[in-house]
Amino acid sequence: MKIISDIQEMQLFVRQAKEKGMSIGLVPTMGSLHEGHLTLMRQAKKSCDVVVTSIFVNPTQFGPTEDFAKYPRDLSGDSEQAAKAGVDVIFHPQPEEMYPAGYSSFIEINGITQKLCGLSRPGHFRGVATVVTKLFNIVQPDKAFFGQKDAQQVLVLKRMVTDLNMNVTLEVVPIVREKDGLAMSSRNAFLSPEERKAALVLSQSLQLAQKLVNQGQVDAQNIKEQVILKIKQEKLAQIDYVEVYSYPQLENLDVIGDKALLALAVRIGNTRLIDNTILEG
Ligand code: AMP
Repeated sequence: MKIISDIQEMQLFVRQAKEKGMSIGLVPTMGSLHEGHLTLMRQAKKSCDVVVTSIFVNPTQFGPTEDFAKYPRDLSGDSEQAAKAGVDVIFHPQPEEMYPAGYSSFIEINGITQKLCGLSRPGHFRGVATVVTKLFNIVQPDKAFFGQKDAQQVLVLKRMVTDLNMNVTLEVVPIVREKDGLAMSSRNAFLSPEERKAALVLSQSLQLAQKLVNQGQVDAQNIKEQVILKIKQEKLAQIDYVEVYSYPQLENLDVIGDKALLALAVRIGNTRLIDNTILEG
């Protein structure tokens, strides 16, 4: 497995692979790899000849008071795991390589970015869309792999690929969870043992919602209130948002009939975690 940090070297590698007729799969990550990331990489390996994973903690998707500086970084541990998952190249540029002095171009997607994480993290999706566009331009993947863990991100990127006629297929992988239900996340490493237990309230409240819907409670507002009540029972939890929207349109809805996205962002101590599920009435 190669580790490339230089954009031109990455582009040369891609050109040579394409000349040999090889298909390319890209798995964008911020590193500190866990089973969720590795599942995306294994999936990529199944359908692409060459798998490139980017490990880049992207400064433009973090707000000024967010955890960019302390985001966990572990390139050597990541390299070992990525190699085992079948990755051929880790693309690991420095921030100055991606955003040199004078950098001025950004991608903005309207509409679906004006809710959920787009509201609580202004500028986040502008940063995500920009870095993903740059990665697509550099790596020229046939397919790019993303996790349903970031459900809104997937919808934003699908919108972008459609609107801007990008020649790449997006593949979405279901949420990978710990045995007790906690969605895997690099930020789980920030949780103290007590917070780790408290964090279970996210997946448990999603399960509660699905149970209520299965029992015939399909009033979206009521489901949302039950989820909020459940989360408020956990004293270490602070709700950022709990929302139920139609899926995949992300529009307001009264009754859960077809698919609905129940999405939440909750702070456990100082760590902001997100989780979601698709409810079906
Ligand atoms: P990140 O490094 O957190 O930016 O995540 C990189 C990619 O891995 C994104 O497409 C995420 O949606 C995906 N991902 C992160 N956690 C999980 C998980 N628990 N299950 C599935 N995909 C995940």
